Amino acid sequence: MAEIIKDESTAGNFIENFITEDIAEGGKYEGKKVHTRFPPEPNGYLHIGHAKAICIDFGMAEKFGGICNLRMDDTNPTKEDVEYIDAIKEDIKWLGFDWEDRFYFASEYFEQMYEYAVELIKKGLAYVCQLTPEEMRANRGDLTTPATSPYRDRPIEESLDLFQRMKNGEFDEGKMTLRAKIDLASGNFSMRDPVIYRINKISHHRTGNDWCIYPMYDFAHPIEDAIEGITHSLCTLEFEAHRPLYDWVIANITAPAKPRQIEFARLGINNTVMSKRRLRQLVEDGYVNGWDDPRMPTLCGLRRRGYTPASIRNFCERIGVSKTNSVVEYSFLEHCLRDDLNMNAQRVMCVLDPVKLVITNYPEGKTETFDVENNPNKEEDGSRTITFSRELYIEAGDFLEEKVKGYNRFYPGNEVRLKSAYIVKCTGCKKDENGKVVEVYAEYDPETRGGDTPDGRKVRGTVHWVDAENCLDAEVRLYDNLFTDPEPDVGDKNFIDFINPDSLQIRKNCKIEKSVEGAQAPMHYQFMRLGYFCIDKDSTPDALIFNRSVSLKDGFKKK
Ligand code: ATP
Ligand code: MG
Repeated sequence: MAEIIKDESTAGNFIENFITEDIAEGGKYEGKKVHTRFPPEPNGYLHIGHAKAICIDFGMAEKFGGICNLRMDDTNPTKEDVEYIDAIKEDIKWLGFDWEDRFYFASEYFEQMYEYAVELIKKGLAYVCQLTPEEMRANRGDLTTPATSPYRDRPIEESLDLFQRMKNGEFDEGKMTLRAKIDLASGNFSMRDPVIYRINKISHHRTGNDWCIYPMYDFAHPIEDAIEGITHSLCTLEFEAHRPLYDWVIANITAPAKPRQIEFARLGINNTVMSKRRLRQLVEDGYVNGWDDPRMPTLCGLRRRGYTPASIRNFCERIGVSKTNSVVEYSFLEHCLRDDLNMNAQRVMCVLDPVKLVITNYPEGKTETFDVENNPNKEEDGSRTITFSRELYIEAGDFLEEKVKGYNRFYPGNEVRLKSAYIVKCTGCKKDENGKVVEVYAEYDPETRGGDTPDGRKVRGTVHWVDAENCLDAEVRLYDNLFTDPEPDVGDKNFIDFINPDSLQIRKNCKIEKSVEGAQAPMHYQFMRLGYFCIDKDSTPDALIFNRSVSLKDGFKKK
């Protein structure tokens, strides 16, 4: 088991510490059950960054014996799609988390949100403002000058009337907003009388044309949390500056609960992009083959690539929770996958770039069998039978016509171990008219069955092989980083400029041992010497397709 590497700033996990304080005797939530929520906006598929948030939201609830809701944050009517909702649920279930019967839509609360807005107006804490978006921007002031609005002190009755007429659709988009009356001089700009409702004459995917005014996120989110009785609203760092507004909303409405917002750092991974907007662009402009392309950092992409729920949860656990945004190396994610597959993947032999190996002293027509372990790390996984005959396939790269220093595989005169079978001595090769090697020749030593030398002589090279008489054809897809730049979307870079043209390599004529016959996605394998692979969802019994999930070599170096 690899050691656990944690971000230093996670010592004790500050979220856990805050919750512990809150539920302790005399704490804010003494005697209450910890209640969190995961609130995705259904405008795209979930990615590995969301997995971090999911693990924190569900994980914290679990840790304290509490519960976690799943809530579609669908208050913005513009770009939501039902397709995403099912995919989001599927991904969370796949990770192994359960919201039970607590599945909600923020849009279910539109009526209550409206009532709370009316409450604020009645208390003199909100007003209808008729500045256009441009005028509002021009009047927002700067660090030394307060913002201004000529509508701030209009009578409560007038705001109540106008707000209702906004709701009734009497005014055009951009003509009016409802603003919270907080502090035009605040050093925190999100407290300078923020807009809490805007006119938006768009039909909503769930509420249809019931509404033509929609609440802003900063007003809606605390209300959603309060309605659901959330105790701890865990979110990413960009909401830190908005926390005073979150608290202001909760303090000034007759909120049924008083949730506490706690922020943590967003996850970034190098050589990839994470925002849904960019991921959508990759899909829509055809740079990848859909949201579940195995090169995508989406959960469906990672799943198709061969990532397991355990590997992703373990990754999220090990990167920890911190207050500073940082970029985690992609190789660390791979490292976590290897840890899991090393313990759990079935071993098989597959040749990606086959060349015939003829054992010239092995009788024609003879076949013998070997019983080999399925997984050296898990005895209970049992064993399988592989066959050996006169004609085999080996990797073309495992033969050289002449010895090169440090090279221990096939070259004339050298002894090599065919994994689990025999020691063979290379005797030469046959080439076609272009000089390409088409057959390699060797003689086997019948005394070495199983791969051991009876006299203890050293054989350095061991190669994988398959029986040419008894194997299947397969297509194997090899992947590399989707982007050549470690930070393709930082600063003024256009991430599209850094797409790696070699991120997908397709090998068509691979040969794999017959034991994989009938296997279905997401069966995981270790192809000896080549890495971990899984069956692709497009694989059929007649046209097997495998994805390389990760190579065997660990590129992750502990700093
Ligand atoms: P994106 O920019 O990818 O669209 P988002 O924050 O708009 O991200 P939401 O659907 O609103 O996406 O996110 C749902 C939850 O997941 C939020 O609580 C958000 O803070 C969290 N989240 C999103 N991206 C990350 C990330 N990279 N790391 C950690 N948490 C994230
Ligand atoms: Mg968003």
